[in-house]
Amino acid sequence: MYIDAHTHLDFFNNNIEYAINEINNLKILTIANGMDMESYLKNKEYSKRSQYIKATFGIHPWKAAEYKGKLEDLIPYIEESKIIGEIGLDFFWVEDNGTYEAQRRIFNFILEESIKRDKVICIHTKGAEEEIYNILKHYSYSKIIIHWYSGDIKTLDKYIELGCYFTISVDIDYSKLTEEILARIPIDRLLVETDGPRALEWVNGDYGYPRVIINVIKSVSKRKAISTERLLKVLEDNFFKLTGIKIQD
Ligand SMILES: [Zn+2]
Repeated sequence: MYIDAHTHLDFFNNNIEYAINEINNLKILTIANGMDMESYLKNKEYSKRSQYIKATFGIHPWKAAEYKGKLEDLIPYIEESKIIGEIGLDFFWVEDNGTYEAQRRIFNFILEESIKRDKVICIHTKGAEEEIYNILKHYSYSKIIIHWYSGDIKTLDKYIELGCYFTISVDIDYSKLTEEILARIPIDRLLVETDGPRALEWVNGDYGYPRVIINVIKSVSKRKAISTERLLKVLEDNFFKLTGIKIQD
């Protein structure tokens, strides 16, 4: 079984039928991260159509400033979602620093409520690696997936020390930094992801269908010098250890 530990199914729009078929045919356990309420509800609908799709609730840092509701209203969604994501901070792609306080407000709220409920949390750390590390360290919480880490190696080592898990994404054959990060991540903390159709498009122009997870796995297996079969088992074990989720295929 393949596991795509972080993607965005709602980004497939008109291609969603094709994507769901591919997920079912290839048996890809798919963690469909939410960006906001709307995308979470959409992913939840998709999850009813495949045992392989799990929708997760989160408010993405890019959407944080748009959220106008009361934070307490988010609690039922946090409660019903086994995994929380995508949440985080982004001080790199988001240039308008007028949104940073809104980002922090939502991130800290969802994080704290999720930790109270012992949730696995998928975190976007772009340009905020140090700040997020310090918050997690304060809680000494490690049921965490650091999604597509791209910060410095020193901070990566601190996340590893804390006990976090990490996804390697579709830029593995295109980024020296990602290669270096992969070399550093212990094999028992490793997961893989596609991050939706647009991530690969951003990397090399190709539309990122769910099957792209197989390329990521092959590339990781080569770089970690273990067979694809062995790596698949390791990824399954890691994901199960972290989330308790296992699907019979
Ligand atoms: Zn994402």
